Parts: sequence; structure tokens; C-alpha cells
Amino acid sequence: MYPLVAPLARRASVAVDVGGVRIGGGAPIVVQSMTNTDTADVAGTAAQVRDLARAGSELVRITVDRDEAAAAVPKIRDRLDAWGVTVPLIGDFHYIGHKLLADHPACAAALAKYRINPGNVGFKDKRDRQFAAIVELAIRHGKPVRIGVNWGSLDQDLLTRLMDENAAAGAPLSARAVMHEAMVRSALLSAETAEEIGLPRDRIVISAKVSQIQDLVKVSCEIAARSDYALHLGLTEAGMGSKGLVASSAAMALLLQQGIGDTIRYSLTPEPGGDRTKEVIAAQELLQTMGFRTFAPIVAACPGCGRTTSTVFQELAHDIQALIRESMPEWKAKYPGVEALNVAVMGCIVNGPGESKHADIGISLPGTGESPSAPVFVDGHKTVTLKGPAIAAEFKALVADYIETRWGAGRRGV
Ligand code: SF4
Repeated sequence: MYPLVAPLARRASVAVDVGGVRIGGGAPIVVQSMTNTDTADVAGTAAQVRDLARAGSELVRITVDRDEAAAAVPKIRDRLDAWGVTVPLIGDFHYIGHKLLADHPACAAALAKYRINPGNVGFKDKRDRQFAAIVELAIRHGKPVRIGVNWGSLDQDLLTRLMDENAAAGAPLSARAVMHEAMVRSALLSAETAEEIGLPRDRIVISAKVSQIQDLVKVSCEIAARSDYALHLGLTEAGMGSKGLVASSAAMALLLQQGIGDTIRYSLTPEPGGDRTKEVIAAQELLQTMGFRTFAPIVAACPGCGRTTSTVFQELAHDIQALIRESMPEWKAKYPGVEALNVAVMGCIVNGPGESKHADIGISLPGTGESPSAPVFVDGHKTVTLKGPAIAAEFKALVADYIETRWGAGRRGV
């Protein structure tokens, strides 16, 4: 028999508390996202953070690139608090993070974590000083730090040194292998330096992001093997549309299946004017379809084929999915456990009744040439057959009734 690659036990990592959200230490894998607004725009950034949090992002990162952005951070926090949005904010710093955090203590206090990139902290002799200054500010404010290495801004001094050592070695490695090693060392040496400065181990998260799947797998596996720091995963510059989704999913699924990864982010390039929350939904769907977490009810729908030439089932599947996404923030509070719901929307009699019976509630719509009726199955039993132009509306009402009956105040068996 061909060997089965079952999910491995989660890699042991040190738990880090980020504004009340636990990363690592066996905690559920955390979904993160990042805004693309100008952080100095308080209203726009607060609104996007709220949308990301409402979609399910458990941590949201914002760019802090200049004084105006740093000054805006506490105002964004206040506005979110006034709306009852408690999602922790992470500040993303490059080049002048040490200065911004020192000059804007309210910003340093309002953020739940600082993200720094060892390749972008400063140059030459300033680098170590500025890195230490940020770590000391994190210690003073009691905040964790993510040390996020990115191959687009890899520490060039370290890379050059490793390349020189490699060239002098008897059996030199490939340039790619040296680059992998430079990324791993940059992350781990920086984390060790932060510890030496005094940042506790349980306030350090690390990440090493690259844009190619095999590179990400290699670098992440090395870091996982050589340390127990909490690990953030993400494929950087993943790209637009299906390419970004597929590449990120493939890369992170390979690592998650091996038990590696405490928190994830999809770095998708949105369409112009596109919806930023797609990256949150993608992260949730990856974790849910792999069986690691449950966020929202699942809609099983067939792909359609020549047996169903109408778009009725596509529209119904879409409507049900949209209804679930829109309603989940309220449903979660009103119907505890509703995220376990399974709904099936099927296109014809071939697989429709069978798949619908496996779901909590399912409908088998009529295919081409079939009688214009749609049997509905609840908990594996056919309960009603819908007919006529209102099938979709009636099925949505039945789904709402099912949720109320099973998870509402007067739920069965209670
Ligand atoms: S259930 Fe029917 S319509 Fe849907 S893919 Fe299968 S055969 Fe085609």
C-alpha cells in the first residue's frame, strides 16, 4: 500500500500572548491579515480593520511608516474600542521603527505586537543599535515582537558572509541552499539577540517569508527543526486571483500537515477596489477544510455538468454561502456551535439525494429533463419536496429554521 501522509502532531512551540490571542504552545492556529490603507487615515484604516475582524481575522497588522501613521495608531485603537472591535493591532515597522516607537509612546502602547524585519532595521553599524532599541522598547511596553525575515530584504551582510564561506568550502552548496541558510540564520540569530537583550522567549514570534513554495517549505522546516519559537507562516508576494490562492494554500498546507505553523496569513494581491477580507476567508477555509479549525458552516455544492444546464443551483449555492458569511458574526453569538452546520446544494438526481443525506440539510435541485421538484433532506431524511419559482427562498427559510431548531434557545434535546 502507498504510505499515507496523515497530519503529524503539532510542533512544540513556546506560547506567545498577543493582546489576549495566544500564538503557539498548542493553541489553535491563528488567522492574521493586514490592512492596505494609509494608516494616517484613521477613519479608513479603522473601518478596514473592523471589516477584517468581522470576517474573522484574529490579529490585524497595520503599516507604521512615518510620524503621521504612528500618531494615528492610538486613535484607530480608540475608534475600534468604541465600536466594540477588540482585535489586537500589530505594527509593521521598517527602517525607523526605533524612532517612531520612541517618539510615539501612545502608539507603542496601543499596539499589541511589533513586527520588525532584521534586514530592514538599519544599515551597517546602525543595524544592531536600532534593533536593540526596538527590542528594549518592546520590553519596556511589555509587548511581543515578530522577527519577520523576508527574502526580498534579506540581511545582505549575512548573506555575503555565508556566500564567501560557502565559496571557500571544499564542497560548496548551491546559491539557493546558501540563501535558505541565510534566512534561517537571520531569523534565529535575531531572535537569540533579542533574548540576550532581555526579551523573554514567550514574547518572540518568528517568520521567514519567500515567494516560492519549495523555498518556504525548506526554510520553515529548518526553523521548526532548530528552534521552538512560535512560527508565523505565509507565502510572500503570492500574487493575484487563483495563482495567489493556490500557491499560498499549497505551501501552507504542506507545512501545516507536518505540524508546522502557529499562525498564518494569505498575502494576496487584491483586484483593484477588491475586497481585502478575501485573505481572511482563504485562511479560514484552509484551516477548516484541512480539519484544524471550524469557523463557519460548510456548503457542499456539486460542480455542475451537462446534466444541469440552468444556473439555479449555482445561484442557490452562492446565496447560501453569502448568507452564512454575512450572518456568522450574529449567528456565532446567537447559535453557539452553528459553525458545525453542513449544507448541500446539488444540481441533479445523480449525486443530489446521496450528498444531501450526508449533510445536516441538503437540497437536490432538478437537472435538465427532470421533474421540476427539489427534495430536501434534513438529518438524512427526506422531509419535503419544493416546487415552483420560490424554491430558493423556501430552502433558505428551511436552513434558517434548522439553525433555530438545532442551535437556538429552544434547541432539541435541551
Ligand atoms: S450532481 Fe448532477 S449536476 Fe451535479 S455534477 Fe453530479 S451529475 Fe452533474
